[in-house]
Amino acid sequence: MSNVISLSSYAADHWLPAGGATELVSAIDGSVVATMPASADAAAMLDHARRIGGPALRAMTFQQRGKILRALADALTARKDELYALSHLTGATRGDNMFDIDGGIGTLFVYASKAKALPDAHVMLDGGREAISKGNFAGQHILAPLNGVAVHINAYNFPVWGMLEKLAPTLLAGMPIIVKPATVGAYLAEAAFRIMIESGALPLGAVQLLLGSTGDLLDQLDCQDSVAFTGSAVTASRLKTRPAIIANTVRFAAEQDSLNASVLGTDATPDSPEFDLFIKEAVREMTQKAGQKCTAIRRIMVPETLLDAAQSAIVSRLGKTTVGDPRQEATRMGALAGLAQREDVAANVALLMAEAAVVTGGEALDLGGALSGGAFFAPTLLRCENPGSAQAVHAIEAFGPVSTIMPYADLAEAVSLANAGKGSLVMSVFSHDPAFVTGLVSGSSIFHGRMMIVDRDSAADATGHGAALPHLQHGGPGRAGGGAELGGFIGMMPYLQRTALQAAPVTLDLLAGI
Ligand code: NAP
Repeated sequence: MSNVISLSSYAADHWLPAGGATELVSAIDGSVVATMPASADAAAMLDHARRIGGPALRAMTFQQRGKILRALADALTARKDELYALSHLTGATRGDNMFDIDGGIGTLFVYASKAKALPDAHVMLDGGREAISKGNFAGQHILAPLNGVAVHINAYNFPVWGMLEKLAPTLLAGMPIIVKPATVGAYLAEAAFRIMIESGALPLGAVQLLLGSTGDLLDQLDCQDSVAFTGSAVTASRLKTRPAIIANTVRFAAEQDSLNASVLGTDATPDSPEFDLFIKEAVREMTQKAGQKCTAIRRIMVPETLLDAAQSAIVSRLGKTTVGDPRQEATRMGALAGLAQREDVAANVALLMAEAAVVTGGEALDLGGALSGGAFFAPTLLRCENPGSAQAVHAIEAFGPVSTIMPYADLAEAVSLANAGKGSLVMSVFSHDPAFVTGLVSGSSIFHGRMMIVDRDSAADATGHGAALPHLQHGGPGRAGGGAELGGFIGMMPYLQRTALQAAPVTLDLLAGI
């Protein structure tokens, strides 16, 4: 009997027939894991979401929708072993599973808990009452859910977290969702989605799953719809410039490429705790999820006097990273998501080599035996001697276990190099010097969506450079796409309309349901 999974889309509260021709293969050994279904009818899905899902969700209050999130999180928790087993086939280790699967479920829990602070009502106030007139007339902003459809287009690197981090704030806001996972690894996203449906916690029409091509879906959206995209900058610009998206002012949020930096302060020495913390974080970010994290450190910036010391410390630690079968406990780094992704990484490393030399790695790995068909790639450190005049190291994201170390002379150059990425999701700073930290944050914050500052006193409690937290904004300006997901209520904003009401205070009380 074949173990190949026949995947289905879920439309209008039914699983559609499976049985398309496209095969999805294991990242570890190239064996066939699943087949994709034929494409679904996008117009029918939009219609169902608008007619059934939206009204059902909007009939509930913010607090009631928060309870749905809690039920989904409980259902996924009870069956997460099923997800772990599939996740290994995407190349993920046990540690990576914690990030994707437990991290995704944790996001639902946090949003469920945040919902308790929201009104048990259908409309939310935004800020306080504004005095706009001397007389019997005032202003009040309110927020209400859009009455269209939220379309979520996700990247392949986090099949579970990537779906849930968008789903939680959207459901809480009160919009029905069409989830379109990336095709690579879609079997894991489908399994997590199936568990949520089987939980029975969702109202009819609240969520649908569209596997494969979106067809003409985006051309049918209007001003009450909202698109949240995660993936490459190239795809993002192709999609957000579709005529219907522009003509109908469809909300379009993008999370895309990012050349995230980590900076070691000028106060560090090879013996200081910050040096050690910095090296550990750089290596963790290079190897976790085989470097396929939008938040991973791509640019490692060190004071020029510490360049050689930092380089050898990183190389030595990378040398202890066991690359292999992600199902084995001892494995520290698994495979890339597939052979095509590995080719992409190799091609981007070749481009980076015009400006930086490979210090270690730089090539695909054939682990032999049963793993010879796997998409393994060596942890790769490059060194760029002249980052001030370089272009590629600040612009090309090799989406794998690849990072470039580079020197800076002083605080001003550290700021300038950090900002040369032209907008990133996250930057981290390892320093025990308040002057260095304040200088870097004040010169760089406007180029980075999130900044993590770590020193010897905070390290034990620090949450990590790469971890996007449900409490804090995930998204960055410029190259990173200009989006803002998560961040508690910030993540709900793409799905809510703000309206400024101007009326007598007594009328405002009535309208706001106070
Ligand atoms: P991608 O090729 O741009 O694909 C992203 C998503 O868009 C996939 O679901 C893909 O579906 C879909 N897609 C592609 N063409 C489409 C079209 N014409 N119409 C509708 N949907 C379309 O990116 P990827 O290779 O999956 O992901 C890697 C990239 O994502 C990296 O560059 C990484 O930086 C970025 N990323 C960013 C973040 C972030 O939060 N900033 C997070 C993760 C990844 P198919 O798979 O079916 O083609």
